[in-house]
Amino acid sequence: MPRMLTEYFGENTFNDVTMQERLPEDVYLALKKTIENGGELTPKMAETVAHAMKDWAIERGATHFTHWFQPMTGVTAEKHDSFISPTGDGRVIMEFSGKELVKGEPDASSFPSGGLRATFEARGYTTWDCTSPAFLREDSSGVTLCIPTAFCAYTGEALDKKTPLLRSMEAIDRQATRILHLFGKKDVHHVNVCVGAEQEYFLIDREKYLRRDDLIFTGRTLFGAMPPKGQEMDDHYFGAIKERVSSFMHELNEELWRLGILAKTQHNEAAPAQHELAPVFSTVNIETDHNQLIMECMKKIAARHGLTCLLHEKPFAGVNGSGKHNNWSLVADTGENLMKPGKEPHNNMQFLLFTAAVIKAVDEHAELLRMASSCPGNDLRLGGAEAPPAIVSIFTGEQLEDIFAQMIATGKATSSRQKEKMRLGVGTLPYISKDTTDRNRTSTFAFTGNKFELRMVGSSMSIADANSVLNTIVADSLMEMADELEKAEDFDLAVSELIRRTINDHKRVIFNGNGYAPEWPEEALRRGLPNKPSYVESVESLTYPKTREVFTRQNVLSETELEARAEINYEIYAKTMNIEARTMVEMALRKFIPATVEYVGRLADTVSKLENVFGGDRIDGSSRLPEKELLNECRSFLREALFAEKELEKCIEEGLKLSNMKERALFFRKTVFPAMEALRTPIDKLEMRVDAKLWPVPTYGELIFEV
Ligand code: ADP
Ligand code: MG
Repeated sequence: MPRMLTEYFGENTFNDVTMQERLPEDVYLALKKTIENGGELTPKMAETVAHAMKDWAIERGATHFTHWFQPMTGVTAEKHDSFISPTGDGRVIMEFSGKELVKGEPDASSFPSGGLRATFEARGYTTWDCTSPAFLREDSSGVTLCIPTAFCAYTGEALDKKTPLLRSMEAIDRQATRILHLFGKKDVHHVNVCVGAEQEYFLIDREKYLRRDDLIFTGRTLFGAMPPKGQEMDDHYFGAIKERVSSFMHELNEELWRLGILAKTQHNEAAPAQHELAPVFSTVNIETDHNQLIMECMKKIAARHGLTCLLHEKPFAGVNGSGKHNNWSLVADTGENLMKPGKEPHNNMQFLLFTAAVIKAVDEHAELLRMASSCPGNDLRLGGAEAPPAIVSIFTGEQLEDIFAQMIATGKATSSRQKEKMRLGVGTLPYISKDTTDRNRTSTFAFTGNKFELRMVGSSMSIADANSVLNTIVADSLMEMADELEKAEDFDLAVSELIRRTINDHKRVIFNGNGYAPEWPEEALRRGLPNKPSYVESVESLTYPKTREVFTRQNVLSETELEARAEINYEIYAKTMNIEARTMVEMALRKFIPATVEYVGRLADTVSKLENVFGGDRIDGSSRLPEKELLNECRSFLREALFAEKELEKCIEEGLKLSNMKERALFFRKTVFPAMEALRTPIDKLEMRVDAKLWPVPTYGELIFEV
C-alpha cells in the first residue's frame, strides 16, 4: 500500500512535532521561545537538542552531519563530518555535541569575501539558525543531517546571504510592530515576512545536454538558430504534461514533501520545455532555504529521469526565460495579513499606511531592488518583452489607484470600487466575482490582492538578496512613519495626511499600464525613474549614500559589508562573462568552424566535379551552379566567424588586464558582450546552411521539442 502524503509529509525534517516528541518539555519550550522571540539557548540546552537531533538522524540512517550555509556565490555550501568517535578498543560510537550543533568552523578562505578577509585570516564561523528546521538529505550516497547555518568572518562580518536576511527580518519586525501598536494593536508582539517563491525552470534531455559545452559550462546556449516553431502557438502554456516530465514532477513533489516543503502547484510554462513549481508561502527565512532545496532537488531528480534541469534565466534565445516570482507580505503574530485591504480599503488606514510605506521604499530604492533581483543571466531576460522590464514600477490595480486619487484630490477617500459579479452568459455556469485587481503580467512589482509580487528575481538566484533589500527599505519607511506618528496629537488625522503625502510624493513609481509597451521607457524617463539597462551597471547602488544610510540605520549591513558585496558582484559578473566568452571561442574553433570547413570542402569537390560537366563561370563572372552560390555564402559566413572569433579573443585578453573588478566587469559588459554577439550571428547563419548530419551539437529544435 502506498503511504499517504499526510503520513510522510515533513518526515525528513526535525520539525516542531519531532522536537516536541523528542525533547524534554523545558528544552522544547525554551527552543520554541528562541525560535519565536530570539535570544540565546544555554549550552546545556543546546547539548540536549544536539543529542535528540543525532538520535533522530541516525535512526533514519544518517552517518554524517553538515553545517549547511549560503555563501555569497548564491549556491549552498557544506562540509561533511561523520558522527563517529573512537572508543579506544577499535570500535566507534556516534556522537554529536551541542558545540558541534551551534558552531562550525569551515576553513572557508576560498569563498568570496570581497576583501572582508585576507586569505591568511582564513577563519570563518557557521552558526546554527534554529529558526529554519534541520533536515535529512537522502540520496544514493547515504543520509546526511543538514543544519541550516549563518556564515560570518572571524571579525563578525556577514559572509553569506542568510545573515543579512535574518537581520532585515528583525528590522522590519521592530518597525511594523511599532506601527501596529500605534493603531492600538498591543497584542501584536511580532510581524513576520511571508514569501511564496514561484520557481520556473526548463527540462531537457540529458544526453543532448551533455553534447553542448555551452550548457555544461554556462547553463545557457551561446549559439543556436531559432527552430521553425517557437512558442508562438502558445500550445505549451498550461498544456498537458508529458509523462516523462510528470513522473519527474511526481518524484520531486514526494521528495519535497518529505522535506516539509509545501510544493503545491505545477504547470507547463510559456516556452516549450519550460515548467513552474509554486509552494505555499512560508516565513521568508524558511522559504529561502526551501527554495535552495527545491533547486537542488530539481537538478538531482532530473538526472535520475535522464533529464537535465536548467535554472538559468535565459537558456535559449528567442523563447521566454525563467524567473522567480517573489510574493511578499507582512503577517502579524496574531495572524493578520497587513497587506489585506479588507472590504472597504478606503477606510482601512492601517492597510493604506503599510502600502504607502512599500510604495515609498520601492520608489526611493528602485535601483537597489533591481540590482538585488539580478544576476548576470538575468540581463538576458529583463526588458526582453517577456519578463518584466528593467524599470521598477508598481502596479496597484484600479481599486487602490482610485483610492489614492481620491486622497490626493480631496485629502480623503470616501469609497472603494467593489468586486463585480460576472455573468458568463450560460445559465448553468455559476456567477463568479471578479477580483479587484487583474493580473498585470508586465509589472515588475505588482499588488495582487493581499501581497506584493516582485517579478524580477532571476530563476537561478537565491531569493535572500531581494528580500533582504525589500525588508530593509520597507523597515526604514515604516521607521520614519512611526517616528512621525508617535509625535502626532491627532493620530487619525496624522495617518491620513501621512498616507496622502507619501503617495503624492511617490506616485511616479505607480504604473498600471503595459510595461512591455515601447512608450513606457520614455514615460519612465519623463517621470525620472531609473532605468539601468544591465545588472552590472546597477551594482553601484549598493554603495549609494542613501543605501549606506538605510542599511546601517537598520543594522542590516555595515558600510564595509556593502562595499564587499559590490566587489563580489563585480567579480562574479566578470568571471561569468569570461567563462561564457571562452566557451564560445572554444566551441567556435573546435566544433563549428571545423564542421563548416568539412562541409565547404565537400561542396568544393562537388562544384569542381559539376564544373567539369557544366563548365565554369559565365563571362560576367556569375556562376552557372547554385551549388557554388551556396559554397560562397558559407565561406563568407565562415570568414565572418573567423574574424569575430579573433576579435573576441582580443577583447577577453584586454578585459583580463584590468585589475579593478568594477572596470573589468563593465568592460565585459560593454565590449566583450557585443563581441560575443558578433560571433554568434555568423555561426547561427551557418547552422541553417550546413548539412544537419555534420552539425556538431543538438539544435534548439532538438533541445526544446524533443523532451
Ligand atoms: P498566482 O501568482 O499564479 O496567482 P497565487 O496567487 O496562488 O498564484 O500564489 C502564488 C504564490 O504566492 C504562492 O507561492 C502562494 O503561496 C504565495 N502567496 C499567497 N498568498 C501570500 C501571502 N499573503 N504572502 C506571501 N505569499 C503568498
Ligand atoms: Mg504569480
